[in-house]
Amino acid sequence: MVQLSGICRAVLSPCRDDSPPQPASFAHRFVALRPALPSTFFNINTKEVLGGGRFGQVHRCTEKTSGLKLAAKIIKVRNPREKEVVRNEVQVMNQLSHANVIQLYDAFEGKNEVVLVMEYVDGGELFERIIDDNYHLTEVDAMVFVKQICEGIHYMHQMYVLHLDLKPENILCVNRTGHQVKIIDFGLARRHKPREKLRVSFGIPEFLAPEIVNFDFVSFPTDMWLLGVISYMLLSGLSPFLRDDDSQTLSNVLAVNWYFDEEAFEHVSEEGRDFISNLLIKEKSERHSAAQCLKHPWLNNIGQKAMHSNICLKSQILLRKYMARRLWKVQYMCAF
Ligand code: ATP
Repeated sequence: MVQLSGICRAVLSPCRDDSPPQPASFAHRFVALRPALPSTFFNINTKEVLGGGRFGQVHRCTEKTSGLKLAAKIIKVRNPREKEVVRNEVQVMNQLSHANVIQLYDAFEGKNEVVLVMEYVDGGELFERIIDDNYHLTEVDAMVFVKQICEGIHYMHQMYVLHLDLKPENILCVNRTGHQVKIIDFGLARRHKPREKLRVSFGIPEFLAPEIVNFDFVSFPTDMWLLGVISYMLLSGLSPFLRDDDSQTLSNVLAVNWYFDEEAFEHVSEEGRDFISNLLIKEKSERHSAAQCLKHPWLNNIGQKAMHSNICLKSQILLRKYMARRLWKVQYMCAF
C-alpha cells in the first residue's frame, strides 16, 4: 500500500473480483425439528462463542459421523410463542438454497431450547473484517460485497421470502482472505404472501425502514431499504439515520432525513451515490427492486473497474469508530 497526498491506494489483489461464492459443503436439505439430543450426532464446542444475539448463542460444531464442520445456534425458548418463532426460522431456511444464503443442516427441539445446525463460515462479520488494519477497502470491494448481498436478496424475493433484518451483523465473510459473503439470521424473516398484508414491529432503530417504524405493511422494498443502509455504511463508514438517541434516529428514518456527507463520500463515484439514492426512498414502490439493483451500472463491469480504481475509502476509518461505539453499547447494556 502506498500513501499519496493523504489518499491511500490499495494494491489490487486477484481475489478482488465478482466471482460467484462457494456453495455450502453439503447439498440442500429439508430439515425437520427432531425431538432428539444434538449431542448424539454433533460435538458442540460450547466453550467458544462465535457470536450471540437477542435469542441465543452460536458455537462451532462437528458432525460425529462425517467430521463436517458446522455452526450450532442454541436458542433459548421460554414459551410456545418463542418456539413458533424458531419453527418459522427453520421453515424459511428450508426454502432457501443459494450460495449467498447460509444453509441449514439439522435442527433439534428440546423442552427449553432449540438447536439449529448450519453451514459454518470462517470469515467473521463483514464489518469486522473491513476494519482490520491489514484490509484496504476500495469502492470496488464495496461493489463486490453489495452485489452478493443483492444476489442473495434477489433469490430470497424470488422465493417469496422477506428477510426484514438485514444489517451489518448479519452479513458474514466466507473466509478471511476472499471477498465472498453470506446472509445469515432468518429469525425475523417472513414468507411474503401476496394477498396478506404484513405488519411487523422489531429491530434496531438505525436499521428500520420507515414502514416498520410506522407499523405499516412491509414487503420486498423493505429489504431494499436495508440494502441501501448497508451500502451507505460500506461506502462512507457512517450510519445514515443514526443520531445520539433512538427517538432522533427514528424521526430521521420517518423523515427520510439523510444526505451524502461530502467528506465521507469524497472518493465515492456518482454511480455509487445513485445506487443508494434509488433505495433510501420513503415510497416503497419507488425503491429499486433487487433485480433492478443487479442491473444498475454500479454493480456491473466490476472486473474492468478494478483495474482503474484502487483508492482506499475513508469509510474504513469511520467504520472503526462506528464498531467501537457498537461494542461499547453492547457492553454497557450487558452491564445492566
Ligand atoms: P440477533 O440478535 O443479531 O438477531 P441471533 O441470536 O439471531 O442474533 P445470529 O445473528 O444468527 O443470532 O448469529 C449471531 C452471531 O453468531 C453472528 O453475528 C455471527 O457472528 C455468528 N454466526 C452466526 N451464524 C454463523 C455461522 N453460520 N457461521 C459462523 N458464525 C456464525
